[in-house]
Amino acid sequence: MAGMGDMTDESCPSARLDAYLEGRLGPAERAQLETHVVACPLCAQTVRGYRRLPGLLRRATNAGIPFEVADRLQRLLAIAQWPLS
Ligand SMILES: [Zn+2]
Repeated sequence: MAGMGDMTDESCPSARLDAYLEGRLGPAERAQLETHVVACPLCAQTVRGYRRLPGLLRRATNAGIPFEVADRLQRLLAIAQWPLS
């Protein structure tokens, strides 16, 4: 049972965040990530942005769009929803 130490707040685990949003994390990693998201406005915003995405994209992801494409699409949409100032 190692590895339950604190996550650093200084860097955002963006790769893990993607996995989290796509439901690819196990329960322990999920819990860790949620802890970070609660403490990190940036990641919280990413999560909120993702939840606002039309179901279309998620369905597209399930429909077999290559992961890299879906991933880039997701990022673009997340950026588009980011307040610019
Ligand atoms: Zn963060």
